[in-house]
Amino acid sequence: MFSYRHAFHAGSHADVLKHLTLIATLRHLMQKPTPLTMVDTHAGAGLYRLDGDYAETSGEAANGILRLAKLPTSKGAQPEDDALADYLEVIKAFNTDDVWRVYPGSPFVMHHLMSEADRASVRDRLKLFEIHPTDAKTLQGNIGQLEAGRQITVSAQDGFEGLKALLPPPPAPGGSRRAVVLMDPSYEIKTDYAKVHTAMQDAMRRFPTGVYLVWYPIIGRPEAHDLPRKLKTMAMQAERPWLHATLNVGAPAADTSGDPTRPDRRGLTSSGMFVINPPHPLKPALEAVLPKVLKALGNGSGQRWEVEAQRS
Ligand code: SAM
Repeated sequence: MFSYRHAFHAGSHADVLKHLTLIATLRHLMQKPTPLTMVDTHAGAGLYRLDGDYAETSGEAANGILRLAKLPTSKGAQPEDDALADYLEVIKAFNTDDVWRVYPGSPFVMHHLMSEADRASVRDRLKLFEIHPTDAKTLQGNIGQLEAGRQITVSAQDGFEGLKALLPPPPAPGGSRRAVVLMDPSYEIKTDYAKVHTAMQDAMRRFPTGVYLVWYPIIGRPEAHDLPRKLKTMAMQAERPWLHATLNVGAPAADTSGDPTRPDRRGLTSSGMFVINPPHPLKPALEAVLPKVLKALGNGSGQRWEVEAQRS
């Protein structure tokens, strides 16, 4: 039924944009002591080999995270001042030597930040959904190795549906509620675009102050172009701030990857992150680092980054 496996794409330029944005967002949110509910509606397997068959077949990590790993930029930079240095520090934490062999997916990125901020007391909750039976089992196995007593759950069910029961999140002792949701489908079937829109409409009705991050591929499909427009309209109608970041790493002249609409992301050169209720520092943080990311990952024509945002 589902053939998409994120192992082919782990550490790609799309993951770089997604996880950079996710980490910069979470860093800001975790400065407050109020408990945070984190939801990953499309979690994947959680941990990926960068030296395994999947990564080597696709070459996406080699043209993504492994190029960034060679940058000297992280040396001496303070993670809190440099979102790229922070991202690289997080990935580095999953690797024991200079040659990076492991890439953490979004569940482990979230767990890593949660562990750092949350070491003294069980504060935050992490809710993970993954529908592919094999990946859900792998994720469950990987997550099972984490410290006991944490409020982490893995559900092998539809994340669009599962999200409904989690919003609004439970109140903290002072009464305030906080949640951050990452929605990152594979867009293997084109109905995913409409499902994202519907799920976001529902989530905004249930919990308009949540922080929502949606990743999407920029490909030659009308649905892919419509999705950020629809999300922007939704945010503006709800009078909520939004941010839209895109990264196009370009295509080499000899690239004959063929049908740009194919959903398996081979040949994908461009993607976007749409964030509703982004923290204030996210825009300057991304504007500072995306030029550096593009310099390292860019190849051929069409290279471009953009960050657009509007406060409510
Ligand atoms: N968020 C992950 C990360 O950043 O590491 C990557 C997720 S990958 C792009 C999308 C995942 O969603 C795939 O593992 C796929 O099996 C899963 N999936 C597809 N449809 C789903 C659904 N309706 N509910 C939950 N998971 C789904």
